[in-house]
Amino acid sequence: MQCSILNPAVTRDSSQFVRLDAPDPSGGSRVSLDGRRRPLFGLDAEALAVLMVEAGEPAWRGKQFVEAMYRQGLAELNEITTLPKPLRQKLAAEGWQIDRPRIAQVFQSVDGTERYLVQGQAQDQDQTAQTVETVWMPEGDDGESGDGADGEGQENPGAPGLASETWDSDGPQHQPAPVHSERPSRHRATICVSSQVGCAVNCQFCLTAKLGLQRNLSAGEIAGQVLAVFDRHKVEVGRDRVNLVFMGMGEPFLNYENFMAAVRLLVQEVGLSPRRMTVSTSGIVPGIERFAQEPPEFRPKLAISLNAPNDRIREEIMPINRKWPIEAVTYAVRQVKLRPRERITFEYVLLGGVTDQPEHAVEVARLVRRTGLPAKVNLIAWNPGPGIAYTTPRPEAVEKFRTTLIGEGIPAYLRKPRGRDIYAACGQLKRTVEA
Ligand code: SAH
Ligand code: SF4
Repeated sequence: MQCSILNPAVTRDSSQFVRLDAPDPSGGSRVSLDGRRRPLFGLDAEALAVLMVEAGEPAWRGKQFVEAMYRQGLAELNEITTLPKPLRQKLAAEGWQIDRPRIAQVFQSVDGTERYLVQGQAQDQDQTAQTVETVWMPEGDDGESGDGADGEGQENPGAPGLASETWDSDGPQHQPAPVHSERPSRHRATICVSSQVGCAVNCQFCLTAKLGLQRNLSAGEIAGQVLAVFDRHKVEVGRDRVNLVFMGMGEPFLNYENFMAAVRLLVQEVGLSPRRMTVSTSGIVPGIERFAQEPPEFRPKLAISLNAPNDRIREEIMPINRKWPIEAVTYAVRQVKLRPRERITFEYVLLGGVTDQPEHAVEVARLVRRTGLPAKVNLIAWNPGPGIAYTTPRPEAVEKFRTTLIGEGIPAYLRKPRGRDIYAACGQLKRTVEA
């Protein structure tokens, strides 16, 4: 997947900018007497049942919330007419509100990619929620090729295979498999989801790093990005083939609890399959170790941002490597119990002259083989950003790198750059509103 690039060709008055007025649907009456705003969106079935019991109601009313918020997409307490009116009023008086994240602004690319600023959840009266970035890529960007995603259904539990992938001399080929459904799938798309506002990891080539860490997103804000985009594109769970990649702003494994709570919501309450979700980490070892303990029914696939052929170069471009060098990361990854046909993805950003040489490709192949993991490499040509002193690799260098890996027996795919004209490509999500 790709999430963001700055391109000077886009100007403030560009017709590609679509401003959606985002009025506060609550009419501003969402604050309780003690000034607290309590979002319901993001709570799972269990938490909602507890809330109902505390409110003196039967626990099964929690299920009514689940149905209303996560299946029907209702955005206002008052719309949940399955709940008695006095209960709705009581909850509202206590500051409870659905507070479902919604799209505040849309940027449309000529290639069909859309980048959104999604309004997050405000915590109290004074705090206005910052927006977060989410990207919709129709047809995806080939990031999921060859990692065991294809051939598995979108809905949970797994539906019959929808597509399969084979290799021939030209590389991977998508072959549509029979669709065992009355309703044709309308969408085949990838949504790139953010986990934090900004990021603390400080990779030298990444624009998000320039923001520093501003805050963690709540589980509701992470899952809410997905549902906001589902609404916009009228995605139907079980019919449309949508992959999720947690590769937007932020380091998911440094917001582990909320990230995994969002995944559980999306699987359990919304009905998505974790086999159509991929989380990417810069190599936060304690996070990978926790992830390895997650039950398979809630565990997305794993991508590691390798980005360099050895520790020396990786340390230069990813300071986090000093804390957790490559060997420590791959050791932790080996604890993950992979599903049949599942592969670990190694993301590799090609920086012109720094990481894109043929000898680097040979080194990467050796490194990947040494891990003993079923793996593939996703190559991403570096997307430039202001104030970052790297260069994009030459197309010939990219192709040579890919063919060298393949020649070494390592499956390697090149990510299609998506949404470059709207700053929507990898590593440059920075809440860019202006040019
Ligand atoms: N923090 C996580 C996920 C978000 S970054 C991580 O680092 O894995 C998603 C991917 O974008 C990572 O593989 C990262 O290496 C890549 N990336 C970051 N900046 C980039 C840039 N300027 N051009 C291309 N890819 C970039
Ligand atoms: Fe953070 Fe990922 Fe960017 Fe590194 S590449 S700074 S971990 S978002």
